[in-house]
Amino acid sequence: RIVILRIGHRPERDQRVTTHVGLTARALGAQGMYLAADDKGVVESITDVVSRWGGTFFIEDKVSWKRCIADWKAAGGKVVHLTMYGINLPDAIGGIREVDGDLLVIVGAEKVPGEIYGLADFNVAVTNQPHSEISSLAIFLDQFAEGRELNLEFKDAHIIVHPCPLGKRTEER
Ligand code: SAM
Repeated sequence: RIVILRIGHRPERDQRVTTHVGLTARALGAQGMYLAADDKGVVESITDVVSRWGGTFFIEDKVSWKRCIADWKAAGGKVVHLTMYGINLPDAIGGIREVDGDLLVIVGAEKVPGEIYGLADFNVAVTNQPHSEISSLAIFLDQFAEGRELNLEFKDAHIIVHPCPLGKRTEER
């Protein structure tokens, strides 16, 4: 089980990026996202996608990141923090795949509190270059599942896409 913890979200400017973090997490096989901020808009957008496109992805806002990390660890889970300053993914992924238990994957927005680095079991970089929480999460999830997540199917979907080389083909159920 993989769950995302999104910290540092500023409702006035991060709504779109945080929504895309959630949608990326869902599409690539994570089970849910905790949001360490109060933002009904993000919760509504993601809930709306889940209700139409299926699956059981959860979104919970107004989470205290400290409490979330403490509870996760107390339940035996491990914590991965995605940061450009961490161990580069090719050197870290083997150890993470060996974790026997749930993973909480933390992504930041602007500046991450220094304490997070010490609380994480793994500080992992997706290259040691600055880019984005969306891209780093996508690549992490893909490498973790070795591509298998690309063929996931979502239960109880009301819309499904029938892939086609040209144009759009969808089915409403
Ligand atoms: N400069 C900020 C800092 O030092 O904490 C990070 C800003 S970055 C736009 C927002 C988030 O994207 C980071 O908190 C991290 O989770 C993720 N991120 C950006 N580049 C990354 C990289 N190369 N590897 C892993 N995560 C990255």
